[in-house]
Amino acid sequence: MINPSLETQITIDYEHIWHPYSSMHSKSPVFHVDSAAGVYLHLSNGKKLLDGMSSWWCAIHGYNHPRLNQALEQQLQQVAHVMFGGLTHKPAIRLVEKLVRLTPQALQSVFISDSGSVAVEVALKLAIQYWNAKGEPGKQRFATLRNGYHGDTMGAMSVCDPVTGMHSLFNDVLTQQFYVERPKSRYGEACDEGDTHALENLLQQNHQQIAALILEPIVQGAGGMYFYSSDYLLRARELCNHYRVLLIADEIATGFGRTGKLFACEHAPISPDIMCVGKALTGGYMSLAATLTTTEISSTIDNGNPGVFMHGPTYMANPLACAVANASIELLLESEWQARIQQIERKLTELLSPCEALSQVAEVRCLGAIGVIEMKTPVDMASIVPQFVDAGIWVRPFGKLVYLMPPYVISDAELEQLCEKLVEVLGRQAD
Ligand SMILES: *Cc1c(COP(=O)(O)O)cnc(C)c1O
Repeated sequence: MINPSLETQITIDYEHIWHPYSSMHSKSPVFHVDSAAGVYLHLSNGKKLLDGMSSWWCAIHGYNHPRLNQALEQQLQQVAHVMFGGLTHKPAIRLVEKLVRLTPQALQSVFISDSGSVAVEVALKLAIQYWNAKGEPGKQRFATLRNGYHGDTMGAMSVCDPVTGMHSLFNDVLTQQFYVERPKSRYGEACDEGDTHALENLLQQNHQQIAALILEPIVQGAGGMYFYSSDYLLRARELCNHYRVLLIADEIATGFGRTGKLFACEHAPISPDIMCVGKALTGGYMSLAATLTTTEISSTIDNGNPGVFMHGPTYMANPLACAVANASIELLLESEWQARIQQIERKLTELLSPCEALSQVAEVRCLGAIGVIEMKTPVDMASIVPQFVDAGIWVRPFGKLVYLMPPYVISDAELEQLCEKLVEVLGRQAD
């Protein structure tokens, strides 16, 4: 099959390919992308879609960016990949130098991995090895917030929301962790006693067993698109210190400007013991992630048994991925990203507000370059996504949540078009 027709390709897709969280044989619509440039996805049927998703937080500079393309092409002339055991290279060194400089000062040791879920596994393993090396091998479990999302591998899943993560299905392989309610206080509000009470009780009673508290700072992403009080982060940091529990900040979704700060921990501000980054790290070009920790933690692990950190992915620190990550971070920092994200927040707030009047909408909330419309009931994906596509926009809701997180390079006019079309389609659902 040198040049299969579009129809044939879609048939093969339906017969053989799983998409994220999909069933093999449901035939829910998939749209065939031919190319993408700037803030537009070009479908193979000729249709052009304005992108409201940044391919799940990643494509912050838009698609097919000349600078990112160039970084990859240049690296390709040098070396595409070498093993990281016993070898090193400039793209990885430059990247780690940047990550260490841009994240909280205490974070000086970096483990580069190939996806967000693996970065979370690495964080959990670092915490366990740390306490083991400290002579507290009983600290092997984790505390986490309900409605959280930290990835799809077994360890990461165990710290996801137990209901939406379907823990009952994986009962015998998932560790029972400690789950606390997410804070009720919203972003911008002070945090009240009630919010931290559950966490304090939990840590007080179980700290001998708890290696770390893992949370998504400020924005809970895939578990509910929820924005909570920065005060809560401050309090969580204090409680972790008090009860000798490490704090892991999962910045995989929030990192690289999405919430208006370079990292969401800066809203508090707090310095976590371990931080995970991924998603927008390469500007949406390649899968890459990193876990950062303090020198105290890395040297304690070195001094423990077996004296090494027990992890090493085959494609660790892939040079192509590191090279494009370097270019993406440089591009971001050279731009007026903070002003741009403030403007996107203002525009989203203004342009999505008409949704509040719709009878089926429960709440509209915006933070940074994230706009969320929470519906009263789950949307019918099979019917609404094709309506968005007909309207020329790419938006993919889940459950009750219809949300936008456009590339930062979207213009005001494009943002207006994106929101107007979205509001129009949602308005139609009412009748
Ligand atoms: C997406 C995400 C992950 C998992 O990353 P993958 O690259 O999909 O494995 C983990 N934590 C958070 C907060 C995420 O948003």
